Amino acid sequence: MQKIESHNNSPLGESSYDYIIAGAGCAGLSLLMHLLQQPSLRHKKILVIDQSNKTQNDRTWCFWEKEKGIFENIVYHQWQHLDFQSNYFSSHLNIAPYQYKMIRGIDLYERVISFAKQFPNVEFQWEKIVQLATDNEGAVVETEKNSYYASYVFNSVLLEKIGPVKNKYLLLQHFKGWMIETAMPAFNPSVATFMDFTVDQSKGTTFMYVLPVTEHKALVEFTLFTENLLEPEAYNIALGDYILNKLQVGSYTIVHEEFGVIPMTNQQFSSHNGRFINIGTTGGQTKASSGFTFQFIQKHCKQIITSLIRSGKPYGNDTIARRKFNLYDSVLLNVLVNKKMSGAEIFASIFQYNSPQTVLRFLDNETNFMEDLQIMRSVPTKIFLPTALQELFK
Ligand SMILES: Cc1cc2nc3c(=O)[nH]c(=O)nc-3n(C[C@H](O)[C@H](O)[C@H](O)COP(=O)(O)OP(=O)(O)OC[C@H]3O[C@@H](n4cnc5c(N)ncnc54)[C@H](O)[C@@H]3O)c2cc1C
Repeated sequence: MQKIESHNNSPLGESSYDYIIAGAGCAGLSLLMHLLQQPSLRHKKILVIDQSNKTQNDRTWCFWEKEKGIFENIVYHQWQHLDFQSNYFSSHLNIAPYQYKMIRGIDLYERVISFAKQFPNVEFQWEKIVQLATDNEGAVVETEKNSYYASYVFNSVLLEKIGPVKNKYLLLQHFKGWMIETAMPAFNPSVATFMDFTVDQSKGTTFMYVLPVTEHKALVEFTLFTENLLEPEAYNIALGDYILNKLQVGSYTIVHEEFGVIPMTNQQFSSHNGRFINIGTTGGQTKASSGFTFQFIQKHCKQIITSLIRSGKPYGNDTIARRKFNLYDSVLLNVLVNKKMSGAEIFASIFQYNSPQTVLRFLDNETNFMEDLQIMRSVPTKIFLPTALQELFK
């Protein structure tokens, strides 16, 4: 991040905003929606910048919640019953009062952008960001074409790739998904497969998930936590094998494909730098041990809004609870990277000895210390205790 050398754009000029949202993906557009829902903030002069105009359905988000969320009206499907499968333990889980919800990327992008178009104080620019600079007064976003100035910039654009850092773990969560359609009924749309570890584990933690949205249509996703990506064709072979041999579906059409790579790391992401506030994966909202991000983004947006209303400043606090869960994530990454126990065994033990509601709360960083102890008792102490001490005193 550069220091601002001189303001080409006067803070009162045309290219000057209260807030710039750099990156109109999940975090940027979620924050915009949260801002526009808030009567005391919705009049702010806001610029949203992205290199893509967000017309592609490039990903599908799943997450769980008890109440209706801000994006309830674009939930594509939801399930109260989940299957967990492994060679160690398998179970059918009733997660009430939670619902496991699916939102398609394109629905979120279209919903937020069309809602924002009602506000003359919100502008969009489809330009590639090349540089970010800040000082104590404001921040500048430089694109290939222009420079824009704001009092605060909310940034989800990663200008530097995440690479290995000494004494920190870095695994890649990579996955490929196919939305498939069948002529004959093949799925039960009231039960989703949360994780199926009964697939080859030789490359590292590997599972499939299956999200049926009708009797004829399901998203099947092949997911790995490893240090390196596979050859592109390997994802297709694994999906094809699983659909044929496990789901027993011989004939289908692929109506949508998605591919993603998420960093699973205990590296510290800076939450803010001068007048830049990092959000989304760039702001450390991807849970290091699971890759789940969507709900952490929504919680972070709520914290930012609360802080803006209270003080006019968007800085949240790094809580003790957050540090506690960061430690747990480091322990799990240590165990996986050093192959002390397989991911399949760890998740199987946790689901076997705890209620699904407790596990979901734990994955959401919302359990209390007694619940954490209960989760810890379900995994082998002789592996996890020395690892926890090693991480604690690093
Ligand atoms: C295929 C896929 C499926 C996922 N499924 C789930 C899930 O089920 N549940 C879950 O919790 N998480 C999931 N995740 C993880 C996470 O929720 C998503 O990655 C989420 O989109 C992260 O939000 P973000 O805003 O940080 O990043 P993004 O949504 O990727 O947004 C970043 C934005 O920045 C823009 N951008 C990048 N570089 C520039 C540049 N130089 N200039 C201008 N714009 C730029 C991009 O175009 C993009 O719009 C998934 C991720 C992927 C990739």
